[in-house]
Amino acid sequence: SKPAGKLSTFLDSGVYRFEDSTAVFIDPVRVLNRSYTRFRVSPSAYYSRSFKSKIQEPRVCSNSRKRKRKEKKPQNLNDRERAADQRHQEARPFLLKAHKSLLRSTELLEVVSNLRDDFDNSASSPGTTQSLVELGRVWQAPLYEITLNSQSHDNASEDGGSPVMEYCKQRAVPVFNNLVVNETSEDVEAELLGSRYILPPESSFYMSDLGQIHNLIPESDCGFNLIVVDPPWENGSARQKLRYSTLPNRYFLSLPIKQLCHTNGALVALWVTNREKLRGFVEKELFPAWGVEYAATFFWLKVKADGSLIGDLDLFHHRPYECLLLGLCPGEDTDDNSRPKPIPDNQIMLTIPGDYSRKPPVARFLQEYSPTLQRNRCVELFAREMTAGCVSWGNEPLHFQESGNFTRG
Ligand code: SAM
Repeated sequence: SKPAGKLSTFLDSGVYRFEDSTAVFIDPVRVLNRSYTRFRVSPSAYYSRSFKSKIQEPRVCSNSRKRKRKEKKPQNLNDRERAADQRHQEARPFLLKAHKSLLRSTELLEVVSNLRDDFDNSASSPGTTQSLVELGRVWQAPLYEITLNSQSHDNASEDGGSPVMEYCKQRAVPVFNNLVVNETSEDVEAELLGSRYILPPESSFYMSDLGQIHNLIPESDCGFNLIVVDPPWENGSARQKLRYSTLPNRYFLSLPIKQLCHTNGALVALWVTNREKLRGFVEKELFPAWGVEYAATFFWLKVKADGSLIGDLDLFHHRPYECLLLGLCPGEDTDDNSRPKPIPDNQIMLTIPGDYSRKPPVARFLQEYSPTLQRNRCVELFAREMTAGCVSWGNEPLHFQESGNFTRG
């Protein structure tokens, strides 16, 4: 199609497919906004980190040149470092090609440089966010309720006579250790201890500690055909320690992935860090323990508003990309109709990153590779946000749903 066509598809969908590679550029704000009916995710809230850092956060480290030099590939690699380097060298041509495609797409680059200011006329600010993790730990947690305010239409008089009635329905339900569902096809505003949250249509969340995750296991055969997992992996980053607590790897071995899968099978998508030790653990222990067969690796390449990479591609300890490992949980009664389409390896997704550790919304994107069901059923584990049509589980799945991240559409 003509470039103008590609660009207008991007402006609509948030996904730009490059002609000359399998890479895609994603604007998470546009992708997320396809979920909402009355509200809009605010670009300035989503992109606050990347755009702010340019002006307001000068590097704390005064000898950054020295640090950079240190991060280049060490000269004498040990076995693990050599394996990591080999993985990087194998991915490198795909990453470079994808980045070149972006740099060549001048029409897209122009839009990208303005993503933060897009249709954002009422500059909202996220304000102080309520710590849901702390709230869940106090003794009163089982008593806390969230109030859902949904607007319903009374379609009883659709004969063109009297106007459609709109009224507000309110209901309060326990917010922790409970599946809270917005079963309507409209956004719902919810209130919890004075903070407001926006729940997209046909979405639900279960906010609990890992110890309660078995409550997500479906009773009958209606499991999930897409399972996205973003575990709180341990790593040395002090910044991460401030954001959320982490768990040792053995905790993830007992995640009930097999029990969450649909009987037709499921696509499992796992976010991993670039630590070689972790990659070995996933391949040799975690996927086998979950009953997942490895299928492909996708890469999330992070760029700045000017299209450049957020860091040197070859920095040894700070790669400007993260990996999404894809695997399949085979179904018990897979027939030809539900067999998924083959997953291409080395697909690259480029985005400008949002808040710390916030992953781009991949559920909709991955749906085409999951065993097809009449109705897609997707669950996200360790989620910090909600998606239309998905169940979000974690100890803070409402985090990015706070109303300060939205404007009225
Ligand atoms: N996918 C998320 C996103 O894109 O924003 C980021 C998830 S972050 C890597 C991991 C999440 O796991 C954090 O929200 C953290 O609070 C949560 N977490 C840590 N320990 C947990 C536990 N014991 N039970 C449930 N959730 C936990």
